[in-house]
Amino acid sequence: MSTVYLNGELIPKERALVSVDDRGFLFADGIYEVTPAYWGTFFRIERHLQRMRRGLAELRIDFDPESLVDVHRRLLAENGLEGKEAAIVYVQITRGAAPRAHAFPTTAVRPTVYGFAKEFERVPRAVWEEGFAATTVPDRRWARADIKTIGLLPNCLALQAAVEAGSTDALLVKDGVALEGAHSNFFAVLDGTVTTHPATNHVLHGITREYVLELSRELELPVEERPIQLEELARAEEAFFTGTTTEIRPMVRIDGRQVGDGLVGPVAKRLMDAYQAEVDGRTIRPHPIR
Ligand code: PMP
Repeated sequence: MSTVYLNGELIPKERALVSVDDRGFLFADGIYEVTPAYWGTFFRIERHLQRMRRGLAELRIDFDPESLVDVHRRLLAENGLEGKEAAIVYVQITRGAAPRAHAFPTTAVRPTVYGFAKEFERVPRAVWEEGFAATTVPDRRWARADIKTIGLLPNCLALQAAVEAGSTDALLVKDGVALEGAHSNFFAVLDGTVTTHPATNHVLHGITREYVLELSRELELPVEERPIQLEELARAEEAFFTGTTTEIRPMVRIDGRQVGDGLVGPVAKRLMDAYQAEVDGRTIRPHPIR
């Protein structure tokens, strides 16, 4: 039986109940965050907290996520996940429960804070080496994709379309630009340069995206943050998605067409090796907010 966190308490999941008036339920009025832990050590938690702070400020939800650091630790411990290779803690904060009306409640409302922890299975290296396939899907999200809101229906529909097309991932395209995945950021290697969309309002500012940019610089690979035209992918040497549970996921086919030579490329391999070395060596460095 899993133990979850709800509004200040750690309780059995069966006892965790939220009001039908919750604005998260009625309007998707809230944010969420997913923070990974490898062998019981949280990875880049400061940055996940910082993204929460920013999202809460954008939505004008008055809550300080600092108190959640301890909640993260307790969720991992209570669910026996400290010794697992990889686990995540999911946290969701909504504006709270109030009679349904679009405008914010005029009386003070306590935000609803919910969290759970679970193990996640990393892709075995042999499977990873085979590569994955993506399908392009029109990006039909709102213009604030940089806020990690719980309003994920367009992302769900996009991923479902990709799955029905026989792919593992959806590549969201807007105005001819390959923006990001349904739950991950997108990178292409073009003329040896590790390229990804800039951190604008059109993409989520992925913590893994930022980390992969940093790793690339450490590996002395040229990097560039600029919009990637879909048509450029025909000449891309490599393509991959990045995300907390996605880690670095190489794409060897996009819309049925081979990427590069159709094999997982050297850049994805070097980045994954560096990623693996940090989480496997159990030597996770602090990743302060920049
Ligand atoms: N883009 C979208 C749309 C996402 O949902 C996610 C994962 N939540 C990401 C990118 C990757 O972000 P991160 O590396 O912080 O997990």
